[in-house]
Amino acid sequence: MRTVIVGAGLVGLTTAASLALLGHDVIVLEHASEVRAAGAGIGLWENALREFDHIGVGDVVRGLGEKIDTWFFDPAGRPIRSARYQDADHRFLLVPRPALNTLLADTVGRDRIRLGTHVTGFTEHDTHVAVRLANGEELRADLLIGADGVYSGVRASLLPGSEAVEHGGHYAWRALVPSGGERPEGTVLTIGAARTRGGYAPVAEGRTMWMINQFDAGELVGSKRDRALLRARHLAEGGWHDDLLAMIARTPEDAILENRIMLVPELPTWTGARVALVGDAAHGLSPHIAAGGTLGIEDAGVLRTELAAAPDTATALARYERSRRARFDEVREHSTAVELADGAAEFAERYAAFSHWMLTTAPAT
Ligand SMILES: Cc1cc2nc3c(=O)[nH]c(=O)nc-3n(C[C@H](O)[C@H](O)[C@H](O)COP(=O)(O)OP(=O)(O)OC[C@H]3O[C@@H](n4cnc5c(N)ncnc54)[C@H](O)[C@@H]3O)c2cc1C
Repeated sequence: MRTVIVGAGLVGLTTAASLALLGHDVIVLEHASEVRAAGAGIGLWENALREFDHIGVGDVVRGLGEKIDTWFFDPAGRPIRSARYQDADHRFLLVPRPALNTLLADTVGRDRIRLGTHVTGFTEHDTHVAVRLANGEELRADLLIGADGVYSGVRASLLPGSEAVEHGGHYAWRALVPSGGERPEGTVLTIGAARTRGGYAPVAEGRTMWMINQFDAGELVGSKRDRALLRARHLAEGGWHDDLLAMIARTPEDAILENRIMLVPELPTWTGARVALVGDAAHGLSPHIAAGGTLGIEDAGVLRTELAAAPDTATALARYERSRRARFDEVREHSTAVELADGAAEFAERYAAFSHWMLTTAPAT
């Protein structure tokens, strides 16, 4: 089976390694000139790590990251955690993104990744799918996977008019900085005023990631550092989190990532007879639940399992779509509940409810 995967991001690379386990002849097409990962660290939950176990890199990934035991804080610095949930519901692994994508690319095999290759569209035929490249070339595949992110061209070909939409003035700022002087609590995520949330957490190798996000952020004025600092002040009532303000103030401007948050609208379908969307291409979510990547890795596991079990590709893709869309109906409900949480206590409760639900209902793959 010749499988073409568009996008060498976290989910495309994981899907490539997962389908290679089934004996698929996999090729990954990536329009960037290198395998890269925009962003600092990514929080991965146990359901994602299980798929990494399947492809044989679970222990290496665990070694790359830092185990995080989540605590939330109100803007006055009071720690808050819902007592209704277990410790396991508050645990994830924070992994440096570039190291993770490098590991996954090595696992897939560099000779299976074609860099500098922009996909412009595809046509499904009865016997195959023809994948069109910007250089005029056409590749023939038995299966095409769109893992090309929130602005997916594969999705645009499958479902014209399904462009990503802006998430109500929602912006995120983050950076990876050398560790030093942080609070002993380690992970300090504060639910602040003016719909602002943020804090910092240790990532492996003596580095700390700070992140700030705000819904309805209004006009963006000044440098990225100014913009992040302006929002971070909503988290630092009465001196709590002055360390976060200092950390942002000393971060070089070019090390700061600023993202306008985009969402993929609910789609009428995720698949064709020989085409499937995975990861952000299918379900680009708001990062305030910090689980888009984790759930995209679940997509890879479900796709692998259905392709192994079904009598033919079209049936496998239909089963994949049914199971993933049902899961994402619930993810969206949790995501909205967390977004609309009123204050730190409600946020902590709703976030724990989400992570508990995600972990206890994860597909067996
Ligand atoms: C601020 C922020 C914080 C987040 N934190 C977390 C977190 O803690 N935990 C978590 O699980 N998730 C988190 N997420 C979500 C997570 O980052 C995404 O869900 C995940 O990275 C999506 O991976 P992907 O492989 O689907 O897409 P991408 O990483 O976007 O990869 C898509 C790839 O496709 C390539 N591509 C695009 N178009 C084409 C084309 N036409 N031809 C060829 N190649 C193409 C791109 O160059 C890219 O390499 C966060 C997101 C944000 C914005």
